[in-house]
Amino acid sequence: MPELPEVETTVRGLAHVLDGQVIARIETRRADLRRPFPPNLVQALTGARVTSLGRRAKYGLIHTDRDQTMVFHLGMSGRWRIDPDEIGKHDHLVLETGAGRTLALNDARRFGSVDLVDTGALEQWPQFAAMGPEPLGPGLTSAHLAKAFENRFAAVKLLLLDQQIVAGLGNIYVCEALHRAKIHPEREAGKVSRAALNRLVPEIRAVLEEAIRAGGSTLRDYVRPDGELGYFAKDWRVYGREGDPCACGKPVSRVVQGGRSTFFCASCQK
Ligand SMILES: [Zn+2]
Repeated sequence: MPELPEVETTVRGLAHVLDGQVIARIETRRADLRRPFPPNLVQALTGARVTSLGRRAKYGLIHTDRDQTMVFHLGMSGRWRIDPDEIGKHDHLVLETGAGRTLALNDARRFGSVDLVDTGALEQWPQFAAMGPEPLGPGLTSAHLAKAFENRFAAVKLLLLDQQIVAGLGNIYVCEALHRAKIHPEREAGKVSRAALNRLVPEIRAVLEEAIRAGGSTLRDYVRPDGELGYFAKDWRVYGREGDPCACGKPVSRVVQGGRSTFFCASCQK
């Protein structure tokens, strides 16, 4: 499943091809992904110029000179393909730029989405309105977390996955950041010390930035040789490593919290 770093890498890869370009043609090849494509999508974007690209949480943003932004989410299996040899069965949206490049949004499981939002109203868009700060932005501070966690009995790990507290932080990165910050994932959020939160914030940024860098360095212009953007594997310290030795020598443990696996070291994380 694409997490924030994959979305960031995808956006950077798309920017190489799309930024400043006119959308010469756009075609939807079925009616919907997770929800229907906007009915006016083709009319609204044909002939529009892309002015910049961005990301909010796990959403990619393609801003245009018509003050409208195409917002995409990759869901479980979505990916963009650049200049594919042929348009495939799961290429549900196809864009062509004025420079003759082709971009295909491929989503076999169709949990992704595409929306058209007025650029000036993005912050009020329902999916964004209640979102917490970006983990790589200035809004994520230990003071912000301390306030969000105050008097909360829920496990710190679960609150870090709450999009209203931090936007776009996925399971892998929460597990890795808590391990690096030596915080037990089941600790009551309200009882995590300020010193621990001071360790946690830079570790959240570090795990995300390292993943983005790893993605960027393994992909030429963020594009794999097969033209697909954005997926890469990384060696995690605890994620997916139940029973393997932690750096301290003790085995990595796994528990299920909120229906999802948490990996941690009971020796290092208190
Ligand atoms: Zn350990």
